[in-house]
Order: sequence, then C-alpha cells, then structure tokens
Amino acid sequence: MTMTLTAKKTPITVAYGDGIGPEIMDATLRIISAAGAQLDIEQIEIGESVYNRGLSNGIEDSSWESLRRTKVFLKAPITTPQGGGFKSLNVTVRKTLGMYANVRPCASLHPYVATKHPNMNLVIVRENEEDVYGGIEHRQTEQVTQCLKLISRPGSERIIRYAFEYARANKRRKVTCFTKDNIMKITDGLFHKVFEEIAKEYPDVENEHWIVDIGAAKMADTPEAFDVLVMPNLYGDVLSDVAAQITGSVGLAGSANIGDHCSMFEAIHGSAPRRAGQNLANPSGLLHGALLMLSHIGQGEVAETVHNAWLRTIEDGIHTYDIYKDGVSKKKVGTKEFADAVIGRLGQKPQHLKAVEYAKGAQMDIAFRAAGARSKKEHVGVDIFIDAPGGNPDRIAEKLHEAGIEGAQLTVISNRGTKVWPQGNPDTYWSDHWCCRFERTNGPFNTGHVVQLIEAVTNAGFDIVKTEGLYTFDGARGYSLAQGQ
Ligand code: NAD
Repeated sequence: MTMTLTAKKTPITVAYGDGIGPEIMDATLRIISAAGAQLDIEQIEIGESVYNRGLSNGIEDSSWESLRRTKVFLKAPITTPQGGGFKSLNVTVRKTLGMYANVRPCASLHPYVATKHPNMNLVIVRENEEDVYGGIEHRQTEQVTQCLKLISRPGSERIIRYAFEYARANKRRKVTCFTKDNIMKITDGLFHKVFEEIAKEYPDVENEHWIVDIGAAKMADTPEAFDVLVMPNLYGDVLSDVAAQITGSVGLAGSANIGDHCSMFEAIHGSAPRRAGQNLANPSGLLHGALLMLSHIGQGEVAETVHNAWLRTIEDGIHTYDIYKDGVSKKKVGTKEFADAVIGRLGQKPQHLKAVEYAKGAQMDIAFRAAGARSKKEHVGVDIFIDAPGGNPDRIAEKLHEAGIEGAQLTVISNRGTKVWPQGNPDTYWSDHWCCRFERTNGPFNTGHVVQLIEAVTNAGFDIVKTEGLYTFDGARGYSLAQGQ
C-alpha cells in the first residue's frame, strides 16, 4: 500500500518497520521536520506483517514501485520471522536496487558515552554486492564444500571511487584500504591494485593499504589512526560492527546503502521487540541514518543543524535508558522526550564535543567510467577437480598419465590448495577433493582439449566434480599456484 502524506519537496519512501521501529521513526521524522527537512513522504509497509501474508521476502510489489519512483528509502528495523523459507529483506532490497556501497560513520562521544577510544571518528565504506555474498556455494564431495568469492574490476572501481569521493566531499584526510592480498593474490589483489590506481586520481587525499588482519587489530586498538576505510564485503561486514561497538554503543550508529539509482538509510540495530511500545527506545541510530539521507539528497544544512542539536542533547546528559549512566547522565528520558529535547536544541551547537560541519553543495563524482581496453585472454589449461575418497596422489597421477591426451599434460595435483604431487609432503592431509592441473604442452589449447580431458579422466574411473579454465591475460597468469608449487 502506498500513501502520500505531503506534496512536493524531495520524495522519499518511508517504512516504519516492526518492534521499536514505529516509535523511533516517528521521533526521527519529527526532529528532521522541525529542522526544516523538505520531504515528500510515501509510506510503505515491510517486515513481519508482509512476511505473515506469505511474501517470502517481506515486501509487496507496489512497494518496489515506490522505491523505484522516489529512489530514497528511509527504513526502520524489521523483525525477521523465525524458521526457514524467509529471505532477508535487507539483502533483497540492496541487491535488487544495486546498492553497492554501505557507508557507516562511527564516532565516539566521550565522556558522555563510555568508550576506550575517546578520539575515534572513522567511516567504513563497505563493498555491498560482491565477494562471498553472492552466496554461491556447493558441496562437491563427502568431505568438501566451497563458497565462490567473486571480486570484479567494475565493482572494485565503483566502491573505491566512492570512498575517495566521500573523503573529498566530507573533508576527510585519508582513505585506508584493507585486503588479504598476501593470500588471495588474484581477488583481493585486484581490489588492492584498483585502489592504488584510483588513489592516484586523488592526490589531495592520503592513501594507505593494510593487510586486513593486522589492520583490524590496529583499528580495534587505535581507531583514531584511521579516517575513511574501504574494503571488500566480508571484511567490511565484520569490521563495521567492531567499529560501531568500540565507539561505546552499537545502538547509536546509522548506515547508508548507496546505489547509482536508489539508496537506503537505516539504523544498524534491529527491532528490539522486547522494548517495543514502551517509549523506551533510543531513536539516535535511525536519526543518524536520516542525517546520511539528508546529506545524500542535498539537505546537508538541515543534517548539520540536527546533528549539532543532537550532540548538544547528548552532552547535556539527556539520555535514553540504553546509554544512561549515573554520574554522567542528567536525565533519563523516553523516545518522545529525547526527540523533544533535540528539537528544543535546534540551532545550538555542542560546547564540549566537536561540532560537525556537513559538506554543503559538494558534488560526488561517482559516475561509472567506461571500461578500458580488453586484455588478450589466452586459454592455457584446465583444473579438473575429482572426488576420490581414500586416494593417493602418486596413484592418481599414474592413472591420469595413462589417460593422457595430445597437447596437454598433468603438471600438478593439489589437495585444498596444497601441492601433493609431484613431490608432495607426506604430512599433508588428503581429503577426498583433488585438483588435477593440465597445462598445454605446446601450441594452442582450447575447449576441444578440455572435452577430451574430461572424457579421458572419466574413462580412467574418476568422478569429476568441476573444472576451472586456466587463462593468461596479456601474458600474466590468471590463476593461483598451489602452496608448495
Ligand atoms: P536488536 O538490535 O534488535 O537488539 C539488541 C539489543 O539492543 C537488545 O537488548 C535491545 O533491547 C537493544 N537495542 C537495540 N536497539 C535499541 C534502541 N534503539 N534503543 C534501545 N535499545 C536498543 O537485535 P536482536 O535482538 O538480535 O534482533 C531483534 C530483531 O531485529 C530480529 O528479528 C532481527 O532479525 C532483527 N534485525 C533487523 C535489522 C534490520 O532491520 N536492519 C537489523 C538487525 C536485526
């Protein structure tokens, strides 16, 4: 159901969600309206009631029309029903509407909210569509399962450019990239390479790269060393929660999901059903989502006014139960009273915390760039994966040699990425999942050779569970070597 509440202004779609959702949405809209936000609100219904009507992804067809029309979605948290058969609404909306960037600012509010990191103020820009989140998984043998990690050049370019544009527009000094390209040299290696390339276009913004493990440790220990961070999906998912938590309260953070056409803004917490309907919930997380939205739709001035009034409210010790602390807080208030307190401070700035200044009129140039020249791709071999329980690499190699074909030879056998033939280490554990690599001997190699090899390997009595083509691109190897190779 779509319902228009006001006319003109910037059209946005609003969902009140479940649990504490309606209360915090009401408080949020009241505050930003009082500050002068110019919004034309369309309301849609999502979540529990829609799931219960039998729609497995929690959203009606008519709601998609609203989202495509307004392109801006302010969303309160929803309750995900227990049990199977339900799809995550968030993932559905993000993927369907191509929201490739997840942006999560995490700033501490010391001494008003207890934290070990009083000077923390960073923004995590997480790639939102790729990596292992394609959820492409297979069980291939009795013992071995796999999940496909996909990292694309356009996907990496888009998110990394977004991070630099965000830094420039918001007067941030540095962009840090986290990857694990010492191990995943091709996938994370691409992300890192693209980062180095794009960083050159922004000489006014500092850049640096960390391996994600030590980078994460540094961020958890010394978050003030970082400013804007950009990373692939999985690392961003984990580390944005860590970052929000170490500010002192995960309940205060908002998040933006940005796409070329549509964007969604929300709190990072859930629907807290136990707190629902009691005028207890803290609306700050959703309010921060709304501030990101105002900034995105060009109403940065309103966002700045609200943000500073909110800082002043926190500083004045007007706190909801979740952040209330004897000796620090002055007054424990409910959702409505907190909203009233922020409204009462519109136009004021914090006296102790640093006042915020939003970028006004700064344009972010995040348009997709045309693809560069294609590289010369050459087919040079194939990895044939077999299911061979109780196998022995020397015997597998012997049988494969007997089944050899003209133009290709067996060069290595590996087991879960570790070389086991030739000259494997007797200590390596052998699972039932073997990768047999065939490379061209001389002359061209093509799909015809792959078909012949599949036939030959099958005739040798092996159960093939998958094949992967081996290619070079402008002469550079486009596949990994086995450990020990
Ligand atoms: P939750 O974030 O709802 O609650 C965790 C804890 O934080 C609870 O103790 C809760 O009382 C407190 N809390 C959360 N937000 C608060 C606020 N604004 N003010 C005061 N206290 C607050 O996480 P959960 O309990 O694991 O999940 C509850 C439901 O929310 C589940 O159905 C879950 O699937 C859903 N969920 C939805 C979203 C979303 O819509 N984006 C995100 C996360 C969880």
